Amino acid sequence: MKLQDSPAVVQEIANEMKKLYYGEPSGHDWWHIFRVWKLAKHLAREEGADETTVEIAALLHEVHDHKIFQPPLVDLKKYLKQKNIHPETSKKIQTIISEISFKGTSVETPVSSLESACVQDADRLDAMGAIGIARAFTYGGYHRQLIFDPEILPSPSQSFEEYKKSATTTINHFYEKLLTLYNRLQTSTGKLYGKKRHDILITYLDQFKKEWNLES
Ligand code: ADP
Repeated sequence: MKLQDSPAVVQEIANEMKKLYYGEPSGHDWWHIFRVWKLAKHLAREEGADETTVEIAALLHEVHDHKIFQPPLVDLKKYLKQKNIHPETSKKIQTIISEISFKGTSVETPVSSLESACVQDADRLDAMGAIGIARAFTYGGYHRQLIFDPEILPSPSQSFEEYKKSATTTINHFYEKLLTLYNRLQTSTGKLYGKKRHDILITYLDQFKKEWNLES
């Protein structure tokens, strides 16, 4: 799998991540990583961020996700050392990855660099729009979560601990997370891509409600 102009080390990491994540069944599979890589590289180019740092961080952004593999499949620090990544770049990549995740409806997730903003935006854009909807229902099915229950109201989480523990329905997840993402996008290029994806979430929810209420 190739993106134009990426250095050899980036290609090598991409090939390894493809092998590790190809069939991950909860919506964090290789093609999610590929989309985040491609989009983050594009944002980096448009915003003037360091592309190689962004590409490596995007490719490795799932390795520490608490929801996927416990313990993590890859020891990030060691892995970056094996790839001969300069210690300063390695540190920056580790910081980007630690900043990327959504941590609760009311929890701020600031970034410390433009590179981090590009990777975080790319990951969030992949949770929005048509693809985001597909991923939410994939996640919900994998975790045996209900599509919707009119007796369970959305419950915005106030902390990362609360977000990690919360039991919800997939439709409620739209209110607890997905609809909040547009306002959290950090780059102007990300916002440009985010607008349509945000509107699609709203249109989808409107139609879902209509069908539920036998309106049309
Ligand atoms: P992040 O990438 O910020 O760490 P997550 O790993 O929580 O975010 O989310 C990854 C994907 O799984 C996203 O598309 C997200 O919407 C979806 N997801 C996470 N939690 C739920 C949930 N409870 N119900 C439905 N989808 C979910």
